[in-house]
Amino acid sequence: MTKCIFITGGVLSGIGKGLVTCSVGKMLQVRGFKVTAIKCDPYLNVDAGTMNPYIHGEVFVLDDGYEADMDLGAYERFLGVELSGLNNVTSGQLYQQVIRREREGGYLGRCVQIIPHITDEVKRRIRLVAEKSRADVVLVECGGTVGDIESLPFLEAFRQMRQEEKRGDTLLIHVTLVPVLDAVGEPKTKPTQHSVKELRAIGLQPDIIAARCEEGELPVSAKQKIALYCSVEERAVFTSVDVGTLYELPLVLEGQGMGDVVSEYLGLDKPKADWSHWKAMVARYKEPKDSVRIAMCGKYAELRDCYVSVNEALRHAAAASGCKINIEWIETEDFEKHPEEVKVLKDFDGVIVPGGFGKRGALGKIRTIEYCRVNDKPLLGICYGLQLSVVEISRDVIGLEDADSTECEPHTPNPVIDLLPEQRGVNEMGGTMRLGSHPVHVKPGTLAYSLYGSEMINERHRHRWEVNPEYWDRLEKAGIVFSAWSPDGRRKEMIEYPDNYFFLGTQFHPEFKSRPWAPSPPYYGLVKASYDKKRGLPKPEF
Ligand code: GLN
Repeated sequence: MTKCIFITGGVLSGIGKGLVTCSVGKMLQVRGFKVTAIKCDPYLNVDAGTMNPYIHGEVFVLDDGYEADMDLGAYERFLGVELSGLNNVTSGQLYQQVIRREREGGYLGRCVQIIPHITDEVKRRIRLVAEKSRADVVLVECGGTVGDIESLPFLEAFRQMRQEEKRGDTLLIHVTLVPVLDAVGEPKTKPTQHSVKELRAIGLQPDIIAARCEEGELPVSAKQKIALYCSVEERAVFTSVDVGTLYELPLVLEGQGMGDVVSEYLGLDKPKADWSHWKAMVARYKEPKDSVRIAMCGKYAELRDCYVSVNEALRHAAAASGCKINIEWIETEDFEKHPEEVKVLKDFDGVIVPGGFGKRGALGKIRTIEYCRVNDKPLLGICYGLQLSVVEISRDVIGLEDADSTECEPHTPNPVIDLLPEQRGVNEMGGTMRLGSHPVHVKPGTLAYSLYGSEMINERHRHRWEVNPEYWDRLEKAGIVFSAWSPDGRRKEMIEYPDNYFFLGTQFHPEFKSRPWAPSPPYYGLVKASYDKKRGLPKPEF
């Protein structure tokens, strides 16, 4: 029988509810339990694919091609699990499904309502994941903050499940914020009390409170207050503190006894935890003294959340390369107005041009790539980064001055990046890109092969455009090596430029499969090469 932990948030959004969810999952894993996680998103979008990452944060692509909320990325990275679209339930999906069923006559004669039809659909999906995953414990996190109108159906479904499942088989963890006001220096528990009151008003009583406090672990007096007013045991009040590396949080919460309380409350036996691997991993993140400086050149440069997976993949790669990493954001639009500013890249050890869309900022990215190619600066181009590398080389090496991607210039005479026939005539925007995990053939003897060590790999995709087959020959003559392609031979998947110290582009997004203990090979390549070059070492052999 699968047990269920519901995670809700109070006071504010963005206080690390997702990380608490991941940490609890990890605590159960190190005790030998199989876990999976679901994110409930109250918005009406069917998935995150059509949302602007500038506002909403990264779109995280799963193996099955589902375009998910970025919390699913955190679950995959912490828990080492591969999730599917079933693990992200949005209000959009619930309404779409219920209304479709209504039109088919599935509810004939009845009035279709939020309760019970939408709430039943929430419960059905949670139970479906429990059944399919065969997990011992399913973590179910509800997005937003208690008190939001739109999350009510989800919380009502949680309430019903807590009634329907056996007592002790479900648990509710409420994540709140405890602010410390400068003037008094005292942690304020009132917002937590209020948000628990809000939860109770809809019939939910938390078992555990995880309070985020920037000032460190809560004093006993604050815990006692929360315990008393929120009706939880004092030993069930934990503090989620700021940590040096995210991967430390499970250890911090475990240190406060959370793992034992969670296991005990759920009636799970064999609760002996083995943290040895995780601790050794965290040490690799904290030990290095030396660091590399990587420029992340993109358009949404201001907002960290747009490229969470890219950032994490770089961090994983740094830990494996024995260095720390400083990632700095460079707005490529600046290089359009002031081309000479591209020289700021001189002070960086390596450059990454991540995925992106549209014409704005593209010229600046092309100038970034040109700078790296000409000045032998280690470069990794991801998706759009690969495509714009092809544009740059077509313009500056082959001499096709008007070469472009048809994404930027639909009528360019030299469409070196173009849509393949299957993408033409696609009108709907949601879920219609080339998405998800696809097999990729890697050519032996290339940089790509030395990084992956395998001729057949699987990586996740999210794009419409491709390197135009009509230009493959000319690009190869210009020095580009196509080191990977789709097994049907129709698509190029990786490029490299062997004259340079490190110049690699991937049509896929390897960051989605990077794990803190197993960095993504292209990211590892970039960081190791940047670090080696900084130390004056010869071109690395991977
Ligand atoms: N805009 C490009 C395409 O759709 C690249 C997409 C990306 O970088 N994810 O093909």
